Amino acid sequence: MWHLVLAGPPGSGKSTQGQHLAEEWGLVSLSTGQMLRDEVARGTALGREAEPYMAHGQLVPPQLANDLMRETLAALKDRGFILDGYPRSIPQAKALDQILRDLGLRLDAAVLVDVSEETAVARLASRLVCVSCRAGYTDAEVAADQMTCRACGGQLVRRNDDDPAVVRERFKVYHAEMQPVLEHYGEQGLLVVVDGQGTQADVFERLKAALLARRPQGV
Ligand code: AMP
Repeated sequence: MWHLVLAGPPGSGKSTQGQHLAEEWGLVSLSTGQMLRDEVARGTALGREAEPYMAHGQLVPPQLANDLMRETLAALKDRGFILDGYPRSIPQAKALDQILRDLGLRLDAAVLVDVSEETAVARLASRLVCVSCRAGYTDAEVAADQMTCRACGGQLVRRNDDDPAVVRERFKVYHAEMQPVLEHYGEQGLLVVVDGQGTQADVFERLKAALLARRPQGV
């Protein structure tokens, strides 16, 4: 059973890779952003507290994210998991260490899917997202006069924050925020860096190979 943290800057494709890995290895993929959006949609106390921060693109207070993660991981019991978007700071990384200790679990690896700023800018500039189901496409996959989602028929749009200048800023903020977290996992011997350049399929093979090399007995 794998217990993984997955990290990567905007445009690294880490969420897509995480979802594929979760499907293939039977793991639960937990995205804090998605979990928080669900809490907001359900109008829970936690969701109401988180909403104003999310609306302004700020991180929610660490205690909220930590409480949500503790509850979710405690309820998972015997399933392996991939954490996507958490931890995002040293206090969260230390909280996660404590949560896992309390639950008698251990992380196997913290994986960084690494891409250059230029690759991130180029990838996100060509990204289209379905407004209804959030499925992602690239310009090359969609005819210019057919801006609809193949999965649900929803309209395809570009995200405002995929603009190159904004991507460069998000990229810098991500690295500044995550550097100490990656060092924290490096010190614990858990950091695995996977080259995120190239096709989705290439990166996926690299990701699996890097993990299996750490634990050859596998899944
Ligand atoms: P994302 O889907 O990762 O872009 O996250 C969407 C929003 O959820 C962020 O802008 C934050 O407000 C919040 N969020 C996601 N992950 C965390 C986290 N680990 N700590 C605090 N806030 C978070």
